[in-house]
Amino acid sequence: MSDIEKNLKNLRDRVPSTVKIVAVSKTKPVSDILEAYNSGQRLFGENKVQEILAKKDSLPDDLEWHMIGHLQTNKVKMIVPSIRMIHSVDSMKLLSVINDESKKTGKITDCLLQVHIAEEETKFGFSFEELKVALQSQEYNTMKNVRICGLMGMATFTDNTDQVRKEFRNLASYFKSIKENFFSSGQAFSELSMGMSGDYEIAISEGSTMIRVGSLIFGGRNKTTK
Ligand SMILES: *Cc1c(COP(=O)(O)O)cnc(C)c1O
Repeated sequence: MSDIEKNLKNLRDRVPSTVKIVAVSKTKPVSDILEAYNSGQRLFGENKVQEILAKKDSLPDDLEWHMIGHLQTNKVKMIVPSIRMIHSVDSMKLLSVINDESKKTGKITDCLLQVHIAEEETKFGFSFEELKVALQSQEYNTMKNVRICGLMGMATFTDNTDQVRKEFRNLASYFKSIKENFFSSGQAFSELSMGMSGDYEIAISEGSTMIRVGSLIFGGRNKTTK
């Protein structure tokens, strides 16, 4: 067994089968992705549009691409046809562009709204208040080509596991409140994307339905390309 296969197997053994694993393959070559694919992995996450476009044609069609990084509005058009889900919708402007481009493609794009839960200033996302305003807006309610499937968030990068847990718990409570107030039970609002290599166990215990794991599967990345 290769390292990637072993890492995936170890991870699957530790993760409940109800939690989806998005294998974050940013900076990693197609050969690594294929190894993961051959051991059964189908969901892959990238944070750059160019990287998805460069890799996808050399890989099988039934592989699902998940956009997890900040997405610039001028790149939406390029990615909409190939993307399974966009986890990183961090503004109404972006959502609106995704809606317009999806309409042109004749597609409904699955999206998660990214919520700012960390202490760091640099992490993108809506506040809880902004989420509620967005979901009540006339603009959102006329969008026919995006489907909001849930929320995504990233905890502060810290060794303080109490803080990480608290941030994930906040996100899970926003998720519950938003689901109750803005979505009916028949709607697709069911995904809570939280947890990475260093904190996925905490995230799962706080209700994550999708974890985004890179280095634990593929090994470390060169810091300068993160
Ligand atoms: C890189 C990245 C991950 C995965 O990080 P690891 O620590 O390698 O598991 C998850 N989510 C986002 C948004 C990322 O950019």
